[in-house]
Amino acid sequence: MLKLENYITGKWITGDGDGQLLYNAVTGEAVAAASTKGLDFKSIIEYGRTVGNPALRKMTFHQRGNMLKALALHLRNHLEKFYTISYQTGATKADSWVDIEGGIGNLFANASLRRKFPDETFCIDGESHNLSKNNTFMGTHILVPKEGVALHINAFNFPVWGMLEKIAVNLLAGVPAIVKPATVTSYLTEAVVKEIIASGILPVGSLQLICGSTGDLLDHVTSQDVITFTGSASTGLMLKKTPAILDNNVPFNMEADSLNCIVLGEDVTPDKPEWDIFIKEIRKEMTLKAGQRCTGIRRIFVPENKMEDIWKAISTSLSQTTIGNPLNSAVRMGSLAGQKQRTEVKEQVQKLLAASQIVYGSLDSVEVIDADPKKGAFISPVLLMNALPWASVTGYTTNPSHEVEAFGPVSTIMPYKNMDDAIALSKLGKGSLVSTIVTADYKEARQYVVGAATHHGRILVLNDECARESTGHGSPLPLLVHGGPGRAGGGEEMGGLRGVKHYLQRTALQGSPTTITAITNVYQPNAKGKEPGKHPFKKYFEELQIGDQIITDKRVITSEDIDRFADLSGDHFYAHIKTTDFTGTMFEQQVAHGYFIMSVAAGLFVDSYEKNPVLLNYGIDELRFTKPVYPGAEVYIRFTCKEKLPNDKRVIEKPEDFKRGDDIDKGIVKWLVEFLDETNEITGVATILTMVAKKLQ
Ligand code: NAP
Repeated sequence: MLKLENYITGKWITGDGDGQLLYNAVTGEAVAAASTKGLDFKSIIEYGRTVGNPALRKMTFHQRGNMLKALALHLRNHLEKFYTISYQTGATKADSWVDIEGGIGNLFANASLRRKFPDETFCIDGESHNLSKNNTFMGTHILVPKEGVALHINAFNFPVWGMLEKIAVNLLAGVPAIVKPATVTSYLTEAVVKEIIASGILPVGSLQLICGSTGDLLDHVTSQDVITFTGSASTGLMLKKTPAILDNNVPFNMEADSLNCIVLGEDVTPDKPEWDIFIKEIRKEMTLKAGQRCTGIRRIFVPENKMEDIWKAISTSLSQTTIGNPLNSAVRMGSLAGQKQRTEVKEQVQKLLAASQIVYGSLDSVEVIDADPKKGAFISPVLLMNALPWASVTGYTTNPSHEVEAFGPVSTIMPYKNMDDAIALSKLGKGSLVSTIVTADYKEARQYVVGAATHHGRILVLNDECARESTGHGSPLPLLVHGGPGRAGGGEEMGGLRGVKHYLQRTALQGSPTTITAITNVYQPNAKGKEPGKHPFKKYFEELQIGDQIITDKRVITSEDIDRFADLSGDHFYAHIKTTDFTGTMFEQQVAHGYFIMSVAAGLFVDSYEKNPVLLNYGIDELRFTKPVYPGAEVYIRFTCKEKLPNDKRVIEKPEDFKRGDDIDKGIVKWLVEFLDETNEITGVATILTMVAKKLQ
């Protein structure tokens, strides 16, 4: 019997004893055994802290992001192997695609996030604040990687995605991971980790794997560690109460089961496209991954006069789902992950039956293709109907339809009276990961979203406008927050930059602008500028220094200038016309267009005529006009190098994709542009971006 290996303290190690047997979910044959018996869990966590953490934290965000990209590209070369193993978990090709390629996609998405960070080991978070009258004291926030490890305890349903979506984030933040997949499908996670380690792309110590029990690992966590848990609410709660977690205030991000719902808008009738969209979404969510998705639709709310039509339509749709061996291309729904999971689903359905009845499917039989329905963990989709969603059942706050999750292809249809009723019913789930409303009525959509948002981590509004391109009810996305309040665990993960910040310590930083510029490598307003030696536009990317500053010549703004700019641009707003009666306006007299002053600024700070390392003007991040500029004003510009961001050369896969300039090595430079007048007061400010060539090509 193949014994799974744990990757700990830089070595592949098998646990003692026979271990827990793991089975092929389709054939019922044993495929591997997992054991962590005899492992020294304290040394695992210390190894992460002392070996992986220092290696990662000294890399910059850009280096870490490029590392994730290299890893994603590497894993893409081993897809066939992963798919072959994935079929053994009962997953079809489509299920496996979500798990494997969805997981790799997550690595790519997080790799791209590096562009939102500086090329530094840490970063500034948010705005800076001037805290003094004379501009000598300021404050901002910085984020530094925590000094511990990220400990991920994952659910069985997505053995690849579950790991990759989480480690992508902590690795980008500069924190190593210890991954503990759910044991039942850990053979697939192990196969992927083997490829990751073999690639040599990650620094030593940045990823460890435990296939099986975590032993006393949780007793050794400290405040610099972060735990993420994905699984059932009961296990999550039990683990969250571990004394070491409570005593050390260890962040514990919980993603638990939830009773997600879908609502059919009152406006939707069988002749509308949204009717079919609704049915299709339910069938997809019930059958993809055999319903073993944390985001799965467990409750279906329908206007009471449409109940019968809808359950019949869902049933007809479900009857077209072919179930069986995922290796057979005719199969659309595979098996559950194992016999234990099948037993659990049936037990949960029994509880649901206290308030509902089965209107489609069966707990006792299922027709399968190319497999033995007894040996494999197959189950038929089960549609339940609860005609009295508000009825009380002993032992529940209301009734089991809103409290019991059957983690399989199981969903309950229930009637609602009006939109307020639907909102109230959605909340009986006590907090969910996601809810969908299918409606073409914007007012109804607004009412539902604003009313139900407090109890949902994500809301999808689905209609004919977006259905074809919608990513679906069930898909958490790297750039959007995943998690939900209350029952769903109260956690938040992914969500672009937000996710990375979970692994970074936020520290408020106070001091003089020049000191904070020196620490952060981002020029702070009112810091001392540096004499650049030559015009900064004559410097290559590597030569530019943060704080390089020029003060330009002055230019008098005349009324004729303003007239000409109005004619040239076509902007004849009354405030720019000298004959306007200015009584009751914000201005005393004809005022210069803000964009004219911005253009004048460019005329003053741009070093022109000869070619120089500046390749192009990339845009403006912020532009504010803070004081009116009237004819006669003498304006000048303080122009300072604020921040430098590397810009990797584009990888050109096909020659026809080549665009002019792709072969030039370059970076983005942000410049602080301050517009001043003859009183030395600031009349406006902008951050402009230029693309600057590197000297070394
Ligand atoms: P589970 O039984 O709660 O297990 C979750 C994880 O906790 C597994 O890795 C499990 O390891 C581990 N675990 C259990 N007892 C432990 C202990 N005493 N110490 C340390 N670790 C322990 O959940 P599951 O059956 O794997 O997953 C299904 C559930 O997860 C469903 O309810 C589903 O809704 C939920 N889920 C939620 C999300 C989300 O993002 N919100 C995503 C996927 C799934 P072993 O396998 O070794 O027991």
